[in-house]
Order: sequence, then structure tokens, then C-alpha cells
Amino acid sequence: MNCDDIQNALYVYLDGEFAELEARDFERHVDACARCTKLMVREGRFLEAVRDAAPQDPAPAGLRDRLALAIDNAPSPLPATLPVAPRPRGWAFALAAAALVLVAVGLSVGTTASAENTVIDESVATHQKSLPMEVRGSHRNVSDFLQQNVPFAVDLPTFQDPTARLVGARLTRVHGREAVLLNYEVDGERMSVIQLAAETSVDDAEPAVQSKRGFDVWTFKRKGVLNSFVGRDARSVRRLVRAAYRR
Ligand SMILES: [Zn+2]
Repeated sequence: MNCDDIQNALYVYLDGEFAELEARDFERHVDACARCTKLMVREGRFLEAVRDAAPQDPAPAGLRDRLALAIDNAPSPLPATLPVAPRPRGWAFALAAAALVLVAVGLSVGTTASAENTVIDESVATHQKSLPMEVRGSHRNVSDFLQQNVPFAVDLPTFQDPTARLVGARLTRVHGREAVLLNYEVDGERMSVIQLAAETSVDDAEPAVQSKRGFDVWTFKRKGVLNSFVGRDARSVRRLVRAAYRR
């Protein structure tokens, strides 16, 4: 691939629509070409900004289902004398009130769950994009870059394990907030660690795992930082999490 190919295929790549082999060709060129790296960083940031600005789904499916169920379970059959336009009192009023409570409960529960899901979804998407790193190389290099560029204390995982290697880091955004993407290679396989500042009121949380689009995603909170570990090979991701969490 040459610079023109990269420019033409950039969005296909950023949308994660390349086959593995094509993606590798693409990355090989970008890794070696300063001009294409610059282009890709710029376009990647643009895409992230567009995604952050996109409107949320109007009503989550779960909420719609719960409302439908509440309506199905409403007192029935309807009184035969019910006026065509229901008055805001009696059972109709009670049902409306019940529906409102359900909406409120659904929204408050839904917000937390959806925030977590957003972080997980965006972590997988970030991993899939294989964005070029803004800094590469030694732990020292990466650590200096993070200290100069990140507004929170990144909890940079270090591993004794010689098969787990830090590749590099770059800035990104997750859930509309500044975040750091760290790339590792474990047994030759690329893994992403995404960190963003957790809400200060939230206690540390044990690691939990979810499977998303063929990737394993581990999330946990530690030292005020929310971590997502993403990789294709379940065993390697678990190993990385365990090593990081044990420190
Ligand atoms: Zn190029």
C-alpha cells in the first residue's frame, strides 16, 4: 500500500471494516510513514468527535419492554362505561402514575448501566481501530508522555512477564471524556488498555468480564482510574488483568 491507498481506504479502516490481512498491510504502511500517521491521528480524532456529538437512542429497548409489560398488566378488562377520553383520575390516573414511576426507575437504573455499556462498547471500538500510537517504546518514554499530556494520574501497568510488552500510548476519548489508550503485545497478540478518570465518589471495584463482538473486555476501578482491558484471546487478557490488578 502507498500513501494514496491509505488516504482512499482510511475510513474503511477506521470503521473496522477491513479483513485482518488488509488491516495489517494498512498498519505496516502507516507505522512507517509519518505523513499517514498524522492523517490518521487527525481523522481518528474527528471521527471520535462526531461520535461523541451523536444523539443517544431515544428510548432503550429494555425501557420500552418494561412499559409495554406495565400496560399489559394494567387492570383489565376496561370498564365498559369508560369515556373515550380517559379522565386523569381513577385507574387511568394510577396507571399513568405507575408508568411515570417506571420511566423514572428505568431511567435512573438505565443511566448507570448504559454508561458502563458505553465505556465497554467504545473500548472495543477503540481497540478495533488499531490507531497509531502517539508515543512508542520504553516504559520510561510512555510514562513521560503520559505525565505531560494526560490530566489525570494514569495507572500504567507494568509486568514482570517477558511475553507482555508495552507497545505505546495515545490520547483518545471515551464516553465523552479524555482517556488514554495503551497498547500491549501479549504472546504476539495486540491488546488495548483504556483508562479514564473514574468518578471520585466511586469505590474501587473488582474486575468483571464481558464478551463483546468476539472480544473479552475486563473492567475495573483502581486508584481513581477506570480500566478497560480488551483483547481477542480470553486467556491472555485475563493474564494481563491479573498481573495489573495484583500490583
Ligand atoms: Zn504514507
